Amino acid sequence: MLKTRITEFFGIERPIVQGGLMWVATADLVSAVSNAGGIGFMTALTFPDTECLRAEIRKCRGLTAKPFGVNLTFLPTLRPPDYPTLINVCIEEGIRFIETAGRNPEPYLPQIKSAGIKVIHKCTSVRHALKAEKIGCDAISIDGFEAAGHPGEDDVTTLILVPLVRDALHVPIIASGGFADGRGLVAALALGADGMNMGTRFVATREAPVHENVKLALIRHSETDTRLIMRSLRNTERVLRNPAADKVLEIESRGNTRIEDLIPYVSGLVGKEMLEDGDVEKGTMAAGQCIGLIRDIPTCRELLDRIMAEAEEIIKTRFARMLADG
Ligand code: NAD
Repeated sequence: MLKTRITEFFGIERPIVQGGLMWVATADLVSAVSNAGGIGFMTALTFPDTECLRAEIRKCRGLTAKPFGVNLTFLPTLRPPDYPTLINVCIEEGIRFIETAGRNPEPYLPQIKSAGIKVIHKCTSVRHALKAEKIGCDAISIDGFEAAGHPGEDDVTTLILVPLVRDALHVPIIASGGFADGRGLVAALALGADGMNMGTRFVATREAPVHENVKLALIRHSETDTRLIMRSLRNTERVLRNPAADKVLEIESRGNTRIEDLIPYVSGLVGKEMLEDGDVEKGTMAAGQCIGLIRDIPTCRELLDRIMAEAEEIIKTRFARMLADG
């Protein structure tokens, strides 16, 4: 049992957050994380329309009585989402927590906050974290360079970002990027975070709704098997190394890259197909450097039990022994 400002903030038992995961964070995974004592966030843009998001929230409610939230990502997209309507669905369905990511969420805060929903903004720099606190976000998820998906353009690692954000902010913070086990959780807390976020680690769980080949690929690859694509568009994404990622990098190396040239490889719809049919070479797939630490496919309950046991053993036994021997 670890009581932190984040367990209090969400009303959960374990300071472990499953942040937005495009195509993966649906009711099955989200409810499994929440039922295991952490908190899952459903990724709103995964659904073809707002009514599908509503149906998925209802499905999740049927699968767990524990708190869960919704992720809203504000990044460039090929199919621009209707954010105000997505937010309305969250309000109507009684969602209490929204994780925003990508751009500054300020334009949407009045709508979200007037409904009493708490906002956790995920960002990749101290300046953006400061801004988020200033505009009224209730908690910050700070994403280091190790992270899957969009780690920003500053390339500052979690080890540096978390203590800097802790020193600069008052609101609870969640450390994100590079986390996959109990050692990471203790490190996150030691750095000043109130909890840790995991993304890629949750893709390699029984409940993640992706093809077994995808989970096996995460086990098979090492920490050196990710690539940073779309750097030339200032929309950097960390993905699993595969032929599609190599092709994107080759196109980018020619210069004057346009998103149109990359669409056949980076389109989310290709990524979705790949997660469903298990052809892991077809398109690009977000993956963090923590793939080096992923060695099995547990249930979310097994994973969180193991993380908590490992964290408690480190704190109670390993650290206590060091102090006693000191
Ligand atoms: P998509 O098919 O709309 O776009 C594919 C990729 O191209 C994305 O990385 C997107 O950011 C990028 N892109 C699109 N238009 C661009 C432009 N004009 N300039 C530069 N880059 C551009 O993406 P999708 O898979 O349907 O995902 C929808 C949104 O969610 C995207 O913004 C994506 O980046 C984001 N996302 C969120 C998560 C999450 O966990 N919340 C994870 C992955 C991606």
